[in-house]
Amino acid sequence: MAEPHFRRVALIGLGLIGSSIAWAAHRSGAAGEIAGYARSAATRETARRLGFCDSVAETAAEAVRGADLVIVCVPVGSCGAVAAEIGPALAPGAIVSDVGSVKASVIAQMAPHLPGHVHFVPAHPLAGTEHSGPESGFAELFDNRWCILTPLPDGEPSATARLRAFWEALGARTDEMTPEHHDLVLAVTSHVPHAIAYTMVGVADDLRRVTDSEVIRYSAAGFRDFTRIAASDPTMWRDVFLNNREAVLDILGRFAEELFVVQRAIRMGDGEYLFDYFTRTRAIRRGIIEAGQDTAAPDFGRIARTEKERAG
Ligand code: NAP
Repeated sequence: MAEPHFRRVALIGLGLIGSSIAWAAHRSGAAGEIAGYARSAATRETARRLGFCDSVAETAAEAVRGADLVIVCVPVGSCGAVAAEIGPALAPGAIVSDVGSVKASVIAQMAPHLPGHVHFVPAHPLAGTEHSGPESGFAELFDNRWCILTPLPDGEPSATARLRAFWEALGARTDEMTPEHHDLVLAVTSHVPHAIAYTMVGVADDLRRVTDSEVIRYSAAGFRDFTRIAASDPTMWRDVFLNNREAVLDILGRFAEELFVVQRAIRMGDGEYLFDYFTRTRAIRRGIIEAGQDTAAPDFGRIARTEKERAG
């Protein structure tokens, strides 16, 4: 196994993303040792039982002591509080990063609490499932997925390069962009689709002419996939919308306008318009498959992802 990229990695937050980083780091040998911390005693206990951290601390400050890489893996609305807690305990020269689904707001929350002697390199792995918590992580989560880094303008390029190498060791492909651009791209590819899925499932729930049991029993592929997305963690997604408000509202506005156009085509019986529209959107799906970001298998390309899941 290769030399570890970091001697001691501290993970603050041990849910889906934190535990998956730990499993993937064990798999690759990218971390010499892994220290973890989560807010609740129950999660810390589960992490100890599953053994994906070498040590689980009772405080965040204790976990980061002596770490040369610290990754904050908590909901984006809690990143500022965590940064305030760990700031005074960070080792000189340490790289501090996060995995938040929103970047500009996380940077604004965390940066004021971080001492000048650390390197702050924000990042976001574009990998996840609708499951959360310490038991949902697995080593393959980041394989062939993108991890976007949003380095600060005055950041040290060598720190960014070291973090990129770490994520690549976990199986990810890496890229860099500005936080604002990241937030706009993710509003299109992730945040607004989640808002639409939550809303569509809410509509079905409200529609009293169709009973709950009919919605469940006759659930067709389109609705079923909406329900999968709408089963995502409520805390995480509340925080995403509150922290990427402008980009989400911009894209939601465009979506609403587009929806009216499609609605009008349906009302007017404009089959040609609908056919051309659906042909154009189908090409996007093909592009995603060709880029290796999903498979063409039926059931929306969902495959058993881990031994744990396969074992049921
Ligand atoms: P998760 O499974 O719900 O885990 C969150 C973890 O953070 C839990 O261990 C929780 O501890 C801990 N936590 C919450 N508030 C805390 C606080 N104030 N101090 C210390 N620990 C705290 O969430 P996740 O899916 O791993 O998401 C974590 C981050 O990754 C979020 O910022 C999210 O935007 C980002 N992300 C998520 C996905 C995804 O698809 N899930 C993908 C990419 C990035 P307890 O268990 O004790 O409450």
